[in-house]
Amino acid sequence: MGIAMDILLVEDEPQIAAQVTRALEKAGHGVTRASDGPGAVELAGKQHYDIVVLDVNLPGFDGFEVLARIRAAGLPLRVLMLTARSEVGDRVAGLKAGADDYLTKPFALEELLARLDALGRRSGTVEHQTLLHVGNLSMDITKHRVTRNGERVELSPREFEVLQIFMHEPGRTFSRDEICERIWEREHEYDTRTVEIFIMRLRKKLDAPGNESVIATVRGVGYVMKAP
Ligand code: CA
Repeated sequence: MGIAMDILLVEDEPQIAAQVTRALEKAGHGVTRASDGPGAVELAGKQHYDIVVLDVNLPGFDGFEVLARIRAAGLPLRVLMLTARSEVGDRVAGLKAGADDYLTKPFALEELLARLDALGRRSGTVEHQTLLHVGNLSMDITKHRVTRNGERVELSPREFEVLQIFMHEPGRTFSRDEICERIWEREHEYDTRTVEIFIMRLRKKLDAPGNESVIATVRGVGYVMKAP
């Protein structure tokens, strides 16, 4: 059994919304529902939620726009996107836009619950070392804060977790598979493309123009954060 969470469910189809709500409540979670893009953004800004379960096709504006506005507002929410089965592009676009996880429709309710538990567990991780420093980067694990040269860098929860792997062991090379296993649950079918997208997102936020990348590619092996 996972921990109880406050979940914002953004889904416009009443039947799916009702089914998902029932399943989440039965698992002990609190559920608030939004049925369009603007409503979702308004709720996310007003009240704290642990996770947003976000459909892509919505009235008003779509899930990508909701995600973009949540991230632009710097809200520390975990976002699981519900994407259409045929749309591989949606999954990649969702991850690029700052989603933490995705599930393709139609999905089994047990699978949704398992993913939410995995996302929730990550946020409750207890760390012994709370302050990490590598070069001009500092990470405060307790406060979930990253700074570069003393300036705050806004990272999504998953981006933070990926960066944390590297900052714990600068100089060590991590394979895509190892990163996948550490961040996502082994039983899920994540491909290494997901890792590549997260590395790309981190580089975009952390690299200074013209400088060497904070996270270097080790050809054929994986990625490394250079020790200063
Ligand atoms: Ca929909």
